[in-house]
Amino acid sequence: MTQYEYDLFVIGAGSGGVRAARLAARAGAKVAIAEDAEVGGTCVIRGCVPKKLLVHGAEFAGHLRDAAGFGWTIEPPKFSWPTLRDNVQAEVHRLSGLYLKNLSAAGAELIAERARVIDPHGVQLASGRNVTAKRILVATGGHTYRPKDLKGQELAITSTDAFLLEQLPKSILIVGGGYIALEFATVFCGLGVETTIVYRGEKVLRGFDREVRAHVQMEMTAHGISILNNTNLAEISEAANGQRIVKLDNGQEMRVDQVLLAVGREPNTAGLGLEDVGVKLTPRGAVMVDQYSRSSVSSISAVGDVTDRLNLTPVAIREAVAFVETEFLGRPTAFDHADVASAVFCKPTVGVVGLTEAQAREKGRVRIYRTLFRPMRNILANNPQRTLMKLVVDAESDAVVGVHIAGAEAAELIQLAAVAVKAKLTKAQWDATCAVHPTVAEELVLMGEPVAHDNEAPA
Ligand code: FAD
Repeated sequence: MTQYEYDLFVIGAGSGGVRAARLAARAGAKVAIAEDAEVGGTCVIRGCVPKKLLVHGAEFAGHLRDAAGFGWTIEPPKFSWPTLRDNVQAEVHRLSGLYLKNLSAAGAELIAERARVIDPHGVQLASGRNVTAKRILVATGGHTYRPKDLKGQELAITSTDAFLLEQLPKSILIVGGGYIALEFATVFCGLGVETTIVYRGEKVLRGFDREVRAHVQMEMTAHGISILNNTNLAEISEAANGQRIVKLDNGQEMRVDQVLLAVGREPNTAGLGLEDVGVKLTPRGAVMVDQYSRSSVSSISAVGDVTDRLNLTPVAIREAVAFVETEFLGRPTAFDHADVASAVFCKPTVGVVGLTEAQAREKGRVRIYRTLFRPMRNILANNPQRTLMKLVVDAESDAVVGVHIAGAEAAELIQLAAVAVKAKLTKAQWDATCAVHPTVAEELVLMGEPVAHDNEAPA
């Protein structure tokens, strides 16, 4: 039998790679994991974690404003970007250290080098050393897409650069209408930056329920973010004072301190050597995998963003867990990608799980329940922001197949709503659940009458 140096060689120490390495090592496998940047990957170093901390930082502006209605007088508040930035970075490095500690405690060997695949059981490290492994797991994640044909695109920053800005710009133009664009717009606007979104689509958050899209677009505009829809960037150039001159395809010209590109992400497969050893890639360059995360080469698997299935941290982790169950614990396990909840940390926060109204209507008859209200806290605060909640119900089975929330706490609420959707609980069971009063969440179990049936065209 062929002897390999390792049972498992993982490329990429992000959410998926670290989890797979730790679990496989704990199961007794000899594991190495290669990483050419800071351990922790996108989520910990330049994604979810620093982003959410900035969102918290920006939220204080709203809390301070709202406080007046509750009797508080607060001296003109002052904000320090370097303090927030440096505190966030300190936390990111602390977490990265914990990841390192956990890897080593599990017995996985970290190799701080770039790696590429050279044969179905072989990996070459940047130092030139070749290693062999019985199985190879590609967990290299993705990177921000930069449109190469956009003149002056090198003058723009990406989300990765935004975390490390020397100083807070006075004005910023954010290109894109997806969740990353909206979250950074919320952060910058909250911190007092004049914020404009330029988006080529009709409404922000393509792919989300149409009412959520309309509500978010309206509330973000009311919050002070200028959103230019059906508009593209034509060119960026630099003014003598260092500002960016932005030309839009509608002929408009703007001057801003920063331009942030948030127009999508691409899988990290370039230069990995995968196609040379027979691993098939999708047209977008992602590793093609089956339900067990196996590629077209039986000894090579892939998990997380590099497979471009559902690009979220908990999904990368669950795919990694299923991979270890399948390959090292003798229990073939396929992660179920249905009904995965997700959140957008914009203002209002969005939490969604399951089908949109349009998706449910394609499958059969539906009933729609909706409520739009101003939470109690906002009334005293004289804050006009309203919360939207929407339930999509399959009329045949009465199962709640979609929950869509846009309002404060939506991200927290959707986690529990996801349990009910995953368990296929019926609207009657939601109704039988007694409310917790006074809360925002109680509205979820108090939506009495449907606002639309299957025979009604969506408004
Ligand atoms: P990654 O975490 O990207 O890890 C891949 C690792 O591989 C990286 O560390 C990289 O340096 C390394 N690598 C790449 N190539 C090589 C090589 N050849 N050799 C060695 N190492 C290599 N998801 C959520 O669920 N919630 C959120 O709120 C959220 N917010 C986000 C905000 C932003 C701004 C971004 C960019 C992403 C966000 N995501 C969020 C997505 C989430 O971060 C990713 O889905 C997740 O990190 C994917 O994990 P992964 O293991 O597939 O890849």
